[in-house]
Amino acid sequence: MTSRLGRLAVAFVATAVATLGITVANPAPASAAMTICYNTSQAGAYAGTASQAASIWNNATTNLTLSANCGSNLRIYQITGGGSYAVRTSLGNGRVYIDTQQAAQYSPLRIMTHEIGHILGLPDNYNGNCAILMSGGSAGTSCTNPYPSTTEANRVSSLFAGTLSATERSAGRSADVFRGSWPSVLTPVS
Ligand SMILES: [Zn+2]
Repeated sequence: MTSRLGRLAVAFVATAVATLGITVANPAPASAAMTICYNTSQAGAYAGTASQAASIWNNATTNLTLSANCGSNLRIYQITGGGSYAVRTSLGNGRVYIDTQQAAQYSPLRIMTHEIGHILGLPDNYNGNCAILMSGGSAGTSCTNPYPSTTEANRVSSLFAGTLSATERSAGRSADVFRGSWPSVLTPVS
C-alpha cells in the first residue's frame, strides 16, 4: 500500500511539473514583439559590447528584439569624459553614451547593458547590489555583472507587453535623461 501510494505521489508530482513546464514555456504574447534597431556606427570601440548587451537583453526578455543596424531606434555613442548616460525619448527609443574613462574603471559591458536598460524602461536603483543591473556604479568597480535580475527582465517584458498599470507604464515609457549612474572613482594619493 505504502509503495503504491508513493508511486501515485511521484506520478502526481511529475504531472504537476509537466503542466507547470507547459505553462511557463508558452506565455501568451499580448502583442507582437517590437524590434528595436540599434545603430553602432558611432559606437567606436564599443560596437561589439553593444552586440553582447543586445544578446543579453534578447535572451532575458520577451516581447522585444534588439537587432543590429536595421535602423536607428537606439544610437550608441562613444564619448570621452562627462560620464556614461542614456537619453530615452520613448520606450525602446533613444541614445546611449559610453564614456571611455568610466569604461576603464567599470565593466564596459555592465555599463552598456545598464544604459540600454534605461532605454527599455528601467529606472536607476542604487542599492549597491551587484545582482541588480540598475544598481549601476553603486555596486562598485569590482562588480562586473552584466545581467538583469529576473525582476528587472520581467519588468521590461511586461512594459513591452503593455500589461502594467497605466501609471507604471507611463513612468517606464516617458522621455527621460539618466545621468550619474557611474560615480567617478577617486585615485588614492600615495
Ligand atoms: Zn542609470
